[in-house]
Amino acid sequence: MEAVIIGGGVAGPVAALALRRIGWDVTIYEAYADPAGDVGSFISLGANGLRVLDAIGAGRAVTARGTAIPLLRLWSGRGRLLGEAPRGRVTLMRGHLVETLRDLAIDAGACLVTGRRLQDVRNGTATFADSTANPRATSRETVQPDGGHRHAGQPATADLIVGADGVHSRLRTIVDPGAPAPVYAGLWTVSGRSTHPVEPGAFNLVFGSKATFVYAATAAGTLWSAQVPSRTRPAAYLGHESLIELYHGDRGPAARIIEHTDQWHPFTVLRRLPSVPRSHRDAMVLLGDAAHPIGAGQGASLAIEDAVVLAKCLRDRATVTDALAAFDRLRRPRTDRMLKAAGVNSGAKIAGPLAARVRDALMPVLFRRFATRGSAWMYDYDVEWQTPVATVSA
Ligand SMILES: Cc1cc2nc3c(=O)[nH]c(=O)nc-3n(C[C@H](O)[C@H](O)[C@H](O)COP(=O)(O)OP(=O)(O)OC[C@H]3O[C@@H](n4cnc5c(N)ncnc54)[C@H](O)[C@@H]3O)c2cc1C
Repeated sequence: MEAVIIGGGVAGPVAALALRRIGWDVTIYEAYADPAGDVGSFISLGANGLRVLDAIGAGRAVTARGTAIPLLRLWSGRGRLLGEAPRGRVTLMRGHLVETLRDLAIDAGACLVTGRRLQDVRNGTATFADSTANPRATSRETVQPDGGHRHAGQPATADLIVGADGVHSRLRTIVDPGAPAPVYAGLWTVSGRSTHPVEPGAFNLVFGSKATFVYAATAAGTLWSAQVPSRTRPAAYLGHESLIELYHGDRGPAARIIEHTDQWHPFTVLRRLPSVPRSHRDAMVLLGDAAHPIGAGQGASLAIEDAVVLAKCLRDRATVTDALAAFDRLRRPRTDRMLKAAGVNSGAKIAGPLAARVRDALMPVLFRRFATRGSAWMYDYDVEWQTPVATVSA
């Protein structure tokens, strides 16, 4: 059996790795050569994402590229500790995560073609446009005598086409031309690496008076991210000085951390998408952000879960059609629940002054009560790789 995967970000290489484990031939087509694509920021993987990577033998390599951070701490803009929970995460640069996953997929026998952007799928055949002057194929297979590769430069037909092509997914509109389009989520973000030292061991989230601020000490330096509410989608980044100004009235290290930034990551607006009515059609299926761009620090972990559950369904069901139906049944309740949780999470970041006061007053009590038990469904998830899909209930 053969799969074509569109997108070599997070879900794509993990799907490739999992599909190689069940004996499929896999080719990934990726629009960009650079593993950071157009999002050069850092990613923090939750315990659920890491557990699933472990299940397919990728956990150790990914963890080795990042910093394990055992605690989550929430702060008010006035410097009050609102909550603390043992919430193990590994934080690493997105480029390093993608690079590691791509290398593992290639080592497992997948082929990666970069510089090729999906254009269309007709009668099960995917067509591509060159998105760089120099499309490249990398695999352990022998490269053809002309220096080319059997996969590069041609339309691709396979038993399954997997859309791991992110929030602006082209495959989503091919699977369902009526699929919702992502909309601006009311927050924009910019991030960076700072030389300002902070206490190690905690991933800190500060609900500042005007904007949220995230920071953590990592092996690469202090990584930070500002998440700024704005009713309308900003046309351009307001600039570093104005960003620092947003945090000047608050207690806490935000302004100092930003002032000592030695590496800036791109300005990005955050987008949300309601649950897609169709995650699959014919022999095409959507994974990760293509189906459900999710905030709450869970987007990459959910993309990883999707990819491995898909491979399990294909392993255990007699036909691709049955496998895709099982995939949707297994994944939809969880992704819908996560979309809801992410909505609550971004609501807390967008809160006006009155709602912010209520949040700061209630959070210490609510967080203590619900931090561990109330969010166990999110972090304790296990893909149970060995358990056949037929016996796993949604
Ligand atoms: C600023 C920011 C910070 C984030 N922080 C976190 C975090 O801390 N923790 C977390 O879990 N999640 C985080 N996320 C979310 C996380 O990055 C995504 O949920 C995750 O990357 C989704 O993986 P994916 O493979 O579905 O999509 P992507 O990682 O976006 O990969 C999609 C890939 O498809 C390629 N592509 C797109 N269109 C085409 C096409 N037509 N043809 C071929 N290739 C194509 C793209 O170039 C890209 O490489 C963050 C997101 C942003 C924007």
